[in-house]
Amino acid sequence: MTPFARHLAGLIRADGPLRLDRFMALANAHYYGTRDPLGAAGDFTTAPEISQLFGEMLGIALIDHWERSGAPSRSHRGELGPGRGTLVADMLRAAKLRTTFLAAAELTLVETSPTLRARQAATLADYAPSWSDNFAAIPIDAPLYLVANEFFDALPIRQFVRSDTGWHERCVALDDGGEFFFGLSSSDGPAGRSEDPCLSVSEHSAILEINEPARAIAAEIGTALNGHGGLALIVDYGHARTALGETLQAVQAHRFADPLAAPGEADLTAHVDFQALAEASGATAYGPVTQGTLLAALGIETRAQALIRTRPDQAETISAALTRLTDPGGMGTLFKAMALTGPGGPHPAGFTP
Ligand code: SAH
Repeated sequence: MTPFARHLAGLIRADGPLRLDRFMALANAHYYGTRDPLGAAGDFTTAPEISQLFGEMLGIALIDHWERSGAPSRSHRGELGPGRGTLVADMLRAAKLRTTFLAAAELTLVETSPTLRARQAATLADYAPSWSDNFAAIPIDAPLYLVANEFFDALPIRQFVRSDTGWHERCVALDDGGEFFFGLSSSDGPAGRSEDPCLSVSEHSAILEINEPARAIAAEIGTALNGHGGLALIVDYGHARTALGETLQAVQAHRFADPLAAPGEADLTAHVDFQALAEASGATAYGPVTQGTLLAALGIETRAQALIRTRPDQAETISAALTRLTDPGGMGTLFKAMALTGPGGPHPAGFTP
């Protein structure tokens, strides 16, 4: 056992089983806090790490929305969970086409990992970003232009399992041999969630996942957009509509792993429930559309061709990245994008009316 796993085991011995969301929050805080997990040598690769095309397209969507909102002189730019800072760097490079968009930039990065903050500081030194541990702490007083790629999937979920005796909450316990195992709480759950439409259609041994922090952050984003305008683009893997089913997964060294085998050493994620995010936001929601659809609508093929003309030696790499980002066999269909805006804001580019 790693020292961190021993720490978790100690918590369980002292206070009893950990609720799944608490386990996931602790494990991911340790995981992200102690490493840069991205890239071939890490555990997983994300769209911005595959190609600059991804960030450029999202950047164009934000600038387009800002321009059609009358190019407000002050606005907030932000990213939730920026990883290496690559997405913002590519977005803002695309924004050099519109120097007035860049001029009034107040860039805030929501990041809890000290390791990744240092990485972001190096990537984004030119843009003087500031950091926040959470979105709610950013004082928003102007239109908000926000992106989040593979952020919501890393937030901790609660799981409720239907049995003959009702709903029981999943927790992590220790067996006699000192190994972690998934158990179920004896009490009924989900308390106070009777309004959730899933409950009435559930079947025996159905599993319901609820991401409370994701809903809370979506509500905060919605408040900012409804009050000050702007656009938030959320890209992640998940389902368009609330659905039953278990989606917790662990990834380590680009392979699926047992979520309990080495807590804090693997990335724990769950499918994002876009419907829940849209509803919690209270904002105007567009999509989700598939990542492939969005990128195609924003002109990624034209941009890829232009890039190939300036770097013919990279033609194969650029074409392969384009395929991986947009093809149904790559990230094109599994990943989805949703746009949130304030009331009366322009229709976001790339989302069919
Ligand atoms: N968006 C980046 C990185 C995705 S990995 C990319 O696409 O490459 C998830 C990111 O979210 C990491 O930066 C991680 O440190 C951050 N993160 C995870 N949980 C978080 C939390 N609760 N609060 C803030 N940031 C978090």
